[in-house]
Amino acid sequence: MLKVFGDFYQTFTFTYEYLHPMTDYFEVQHRDGAARVGKLLLNTPIRTPHIIETGKLRKWNEGNNLILDAGSLWEYGSKENAKEHLDEMRAVVGDDTLIILPHQSFPPAAPGDVAIKAADALDPNLNLNLNLNPGIDPIITTSGAIGTTFRAGQKVRKSDLYVMEGAGSLENNSRRFFNTLLELKNSVPADTAVYAPNLCLPENAAILVYLGIDIVDDTRVVIAAYNDIYLTSSGRFYLDALAELPCKCETCAHLDVKDLMAMDKKERAQRLEKHNKNVLRTELALVRERIWAGTLRE
Ligand SMILES: [Zn+2]
Repeated sequence: MLKVFGDFYQTFTFTYEYLHPMTDYFEVQHRDGAARVGKLLLNTPIRTPHIIETGKLRKWNEGNNLILDAGSLWEYGSKENAKEHLDEMRAVVGDDTLIILPHQSFPPAAPGDVAIKAADALDPNLNLNLNLNPGIDPIITTSGAIGTTFRAGQKVRKSDLYVMEGAGSLENNSRRFFNTLLELKNSVPADTAVYAPNLCLPENAAILVYLGIDIVDDTRVVIAAYNDIYLTSSGRFYLDALAELPCKCETCAHLDVKDLMAMDKKERAQRLEKHNKNVLRTELALVRERIWAGTLRE
């Protein structure tokens, strides 16, 4: 579905406005149309397009996870609590880890005005509510690399990464996805990273990058695994509908469909998860190569 808008999208010329200072933590290295390869300059540099492991986003106090989500404001009950939590995170992980600031998320289906008004009044990432609540410091922020959520119609603040809010629920509405992405791209500085959560599959990874997405995650491929869905770059298959495993990755090489079907549900899901993640990683690596070669559109 997204592909329908792809070529149309490419005919747009983005008005890149360099009014905002550019990010210190992301650099674009090469472009091919709207697609780009770049680098997030964190503790260990991360090449983009990049896949976030969703399961690690909240694990700030274990492992060396370089992109973290500070969570929703709903969880904290007050801005003070959210700020305290954010400061604690930052003290532990250091400045060269990217933290997505505490956010107030609304599904995109929420009526625009209501969502925007409510978000402006509550969202810590915005300046707008200075007028609504002059006594309250509206900004919960921190030093170092940060990410913020983007919602069409809201003010944009300086950030190293923008999260396309609710991207996952736009999957079946290409026009709305396209319009939201276009508005995002026209609103944020050109050289910042754009993350579309909960949307990427091997079959649509290339088109998402083609449209200008730098960062995706593995949410959908993990969910597919737990639903016995075997992913390939050209589509998805129910495992029991396959005669053989078309992939020869490290997980599939020593297995056939019968072996997988004979496993208990949990073990099968774990194997499928490994395979599905392998396919997505392979697809993204291929996409990066095609951007360098200038052949992503072919
Ligand atoms: Zn495989």
